Amino acid sequence: MVQEFFPLLLSILLTIVVVISIIALVYILLTGRSKSLDVYYPPKLTAEDLAEKLLCPNCGKTGLRPLSRYALKCDACGFTFSLGVLRTKEEKYS
Ligand SMILES: [Zn+2]
Repeated sequence: MVQEFFPLLLSILLTIVVVISIIALVYILLTGRSKSLDVYYPPKLTAEDLAEKLLCPNCGKTGLRPLSRYALKCDACGFTFSLGVLRTKEEKYS
């Protein structure tokens, strides 16, 4: 009796857990909670490619050096900046 009852209880519990997580996922998607987070979009080109194409935003000179995958540093003035787009929750989504 106990051996037959326990797997049934376990499967019912598992079903309840799955149903609750599906409902939670649908709720998050419908209310757009995921859209209200700050999202960082990495650049499509690598930092090495962009280092050759971009000018320094601070002094306007070339000679940028990749600091990491998403950051460049200007050799002339030492200005460091990150690449990609950061969308905050205040911004509207089109
Ligand atoms: Zn500079």
